[in-house]
Amino acid sequence: MSLRWNRGRAALRLQTLGWFPLLVTVGPIGKATAVHRDAAARLTAAVLAGRGMNFTEQQMVEYLPQAQARWQRALMERRRLSTAERLLQARRCSYCASWSDPSATHCAGCRRRFTVADDTEWDTTVSRATATVAEAEAILADLARGVVLERLNGASHG
Ligand SMILES: [Zn+2]
Repeated sequence: MSLRWNRGRAALRLQTLGWFPLLVTVGPIGKATAVHRDAAARLTAAVLAGRGMNFTEQQMVEYLPQAQARWQRALMERRRLSTAERLLQARRCSYCASWSDPSATHCAGCRRRFTVADDTEWDTTVSRATATVAEAEAILADLARGVVLERLNGASHG
């Protein structure tokens, strides 16, 4: 993603380099002037006030190769999250495979009453899916905060 700001004849370009955490470069378009320096200083102050960080060139060089891996990990965690959330939205009948409301006592497809075994299986599904949701959300938050990949809790659990 790329954005451009103009003020009079001065223009700044903001370029996104990574998303977890958000990593951008900002630079003047054309020759840098006092207007550019003032804008860059105010932008930096705003980022730092929002608990952001200012990277040196050297830190950028070290960080950039991780950006792709972090993005892929975030996509994987988002998929785990949405799959788990879908599991929590409906219970499946072991007899006819229809989906019913989580609070239903009878199957929406075959009208059969859910058995104790069905309820036990549903409870297991709910607790597993709830744990997956919590874990995926925690990893996404860690990625966004900039926690290094190797230090994320719970490697991938499929
Ligand atoms: Zn059924």
